[in-house]
Amino acid sequence: MIKGRCPTCSKAFEVDRIDDLPSFPFCSERCRLVDLGRWIDESHRIPGPPVDPADLPPGAAPDANGRHEDED
Ligand SMILES: [Zn+2]
Repeated sequence: MIKGRCPTCSKAFEVDRIDDLPSFPFCSERCRLVDLGRWIDESHRIPGPPVDPADLPPGAAPDANGRHEDED
C-alpha cells in the first residue's frame, strides 16, 4: 500500500501499487499537468519591469559614442 498526498490539490490518496497511479505523486493526470503548467509559467516569467533603453544614463548603451577621449 502506498499513501501519498497530491502536491497540486493536497488530496490524500492510497494505491496498492505504484503502477496503479501513473500520475504519481499526483492524484490524477490533470493535477500532474497543472503542476507542469506552473513550472513552465515560472520559467517564462521575466523578473522586474522591462527596461526602456531611453531611460538608461548616457554612455550605458554600447553604441553611444564608444570612443575614448584620452586617446587623442
Ligand atoms: Zn490532485
